[in-house]
Amino acid sequence: MLNDRQVRKTFELLEIPLKRMNESSPIYIPCPYQEKHTKPTRARDCQLYFNDGPNIFCFHESCREALRELCDFVRFEVTGSNTNSAFISAPGQTTNSQSRSSKRAKR
Ligand SMILES: [Zn+2]
Repeated sequence: MLNDRQVRKTFELLEIPLKRMNESSPIYIPCPYQEKHTKPTRARDCQLYFNDGPNIFCFHESCREALRELCDFVRFEVTGSNTNSAFISAPGQTTNSQSRSSKRAKR
């Protein structure tokens, strides 16, 4: 569940008018990647869920990957955490923490 401040930040990052915060989630927004659409874009193709997440769902498939990356970015900016565990356990970053923990384990 997002608080008012987090919802506000979501809207700012996505450049959605803040007055639309008063509408209830989800709201219809213009798809941020509608130039990627291979079929005609209609007014109600894209929805923003901001009572949780935040998440963006678009009817089109051609923008899905770009939207997922945008959602990850917005979610990270807004909540300060990324639930995508692949992002956290990136390979090649274990050396530092290993040497640090072995130093601490020494008596
Ligand atoms: Zn789209």
